[in-house]
Amino acid sequence: MGKQVVVVGGSVAGLGVGLALSSLGHRVTILERDATPLPPSPIEAFETWDRRGSPQTRHSHAFLARLHNLILDRAPDLYASLREHGAEPLRFTDMARQHFSDSELLPEDEEITLLACRRITFEWVLRRHVLDSGRVKFLDGVDVQGLEAESGSGGPPLVTGVRVRRGDEHTSLSADLVVDASGRRSRLPHWLEAIGGRPLREDSEPCGIFYSSRFYRLLDGVEPPVMEGAIGADLGYMKYAVFPGDSRIFSVTLAASPDDDTLRSVLRVRAFEAAAREFPAVRPWIDPAVSEPITEVHGMGMLQNSRRHFVDDGEPLALGLFPIGDALIHTNPITGRGCTLAWVGAFLLADALDREPDDLRAFALALHEDVEREITPWYDAALMQDRDAIEVEALQRQGVDPFATQREDGTANPRAFMRSVIREGLVPGLREDLVLLRAFMRVFNLLESPTDLMRDPVLMQRILAAYRRREEREPQVLGPSRSEMMELLARAA
Ligand SMILES: Cc1cc2nc3c(=O)[nH]c(=O)nc-3n(C[C@H](O)[C@H](O)[C@H](O)COP(=O)(O)OP(=O)(O)OC[C@H]3O[C@@H](n4cnc5c(N)ncnc54)[C@H](O)[C@@H]3O)c2cc1C
Repeated sequence: MGKQVVVVGGSVAGLGVGLALSSLGHRVTILERDATPLPPSPIEAFETWDRRGSPQTRHSHAFLARLHNLILDRAPDLYASLREHGAEPLRFTDMARQHFSDSELLPEDEEITLLACRRITFEWVLRRHVLDSGRVKFLDGVDVQGLEAESGSGGPPLVTGVRVRRGDEHTSLSADLVVDASGRRSRLPHWLEAIGGRPLREDSEPCGIFYSSRFYRLLDGVEPPVMEGAIGADLGYMKYAVFPGDSRIFSVTLAASPDDDTLRSVLRVRAFEAAAREFPAVRPWIDPAVSEPITEVHGMGMLQNSRRHFVDDGEPLALGLFPIGDALIHTNPITGRGCTLAWVGAFLLADALDREPDDLRAFALALHEDVEREITPWYDAALMQDRDAIEVEALQRQGVDPFATQREDGTANPRAFMRSVIREGLVPGLREDLVLLRAFMRVFNLLESPTDLMRDPVLMQRILAAYRRREEREPQVLGPSRSEMMELLARAA
């Protein structure tokens, strides 16, 4: 007999868990606060859908291979529907053939396939698919305001449902299991406190960037530019990337420190365009002979890496409840992992419930163990990467070279050395060595664990070999220097 499950939040994580649980026979009700029903088509959704509960829908999104493969395996009909609505697979094998004439491909290279799709199209198709399945009840305009619970005798409280508001009506809905998929601004800490649970511990650190994204449409009859190597780069003071989407639409994202007023000017169209044109990987895409802009520049700030410890000291803070998606862990959007990790979490949750259907504590502990193995390492990796990126940006701002392997007093600077190895070994190595590119793409796409690359002695040797060749190659210009960019933005302003 399936369980009665209430899911708070009807975005990528909530819909994913709805799909996963309903396919196992559970009765799922998704409650979504935004009172904005599904527009008739993804085209109208892009133009008019008011998804203020998930404002990142207006930003560039990458859908990584782990998610692509999960959809293909667990929801093939959804995959077909995404393709019908213009989503395109982006295959590593095509990329490899383009860059390595003698490329020796492996059968598992097919696994490295991303999905090019706008976030709004992805969510529209996903919601349409879940609604059409007839197995999930989806109620919009419903604001979950708290939890119903029985106090556990000495143990954690047992959640028995949610308290909701719909218009002026206040009511409750009972459930065997409540899944919190209400995103990064989840009210879970307050809800737990209100039912007498232990405090929900949260770790949070800034990503060090704000986001600015603009969408463009390829002109009729024009082919998309050939992707020569990476379509993004990290210049220290600014990160940029081109995100191919569905239906001949793509977007460009520029991200920089929120503390820098001059760099923040890219939130305005004129400065955004002036900056984007300076990046060799972006320039051919936004050439007026190739594409036309179809939106303003969308901005987003307050970006944090955050993690909530719902199972703390070996015990869940409540039974009959679990957070997933951004409500549990979210990481720097520039790495493009959020939707993938949300879906990994959704299917881990469904599988854990399948293994432990009659014991809510055992279910929570099993799921926590899976999350620690499959999701938490990506949070830890994001923290390490962002701490270093914030330091690099701050040093550049002070006019100090963050890549100087020797300090002023003559001693070696191991952190700067590692940065140089990445910049002058790993990054160019990806263009020169197929083995390295494959290994990098597998980690980037969450097909391997995040620590594998630099720990693998064979790969490390190849990275160091590429580093030793640094004097032999022409330096690749990924964009202007910080001071050149500052001048350019000042002029654009
Ligand atoms: C700028 C930016 C760019 C990103 N780029 C990428 C990318 O390239 N690739 C990628 O995979 N991920 C990316 N992400 C992350 C990704 O968008 C999220 O991980 C993804 O949306 C999954 O989120 P979610 O469903 O957990 O939460 P959300 O999408 O935030 O949805 C939460 C939902 O819960 C609803 N809700 C909230 N409170 C309540 C309540 N009390 N009652 C009822 N409903 C409620 C909200 O209305 C909303 O619909 C990006 C994020 C940002 C901010």
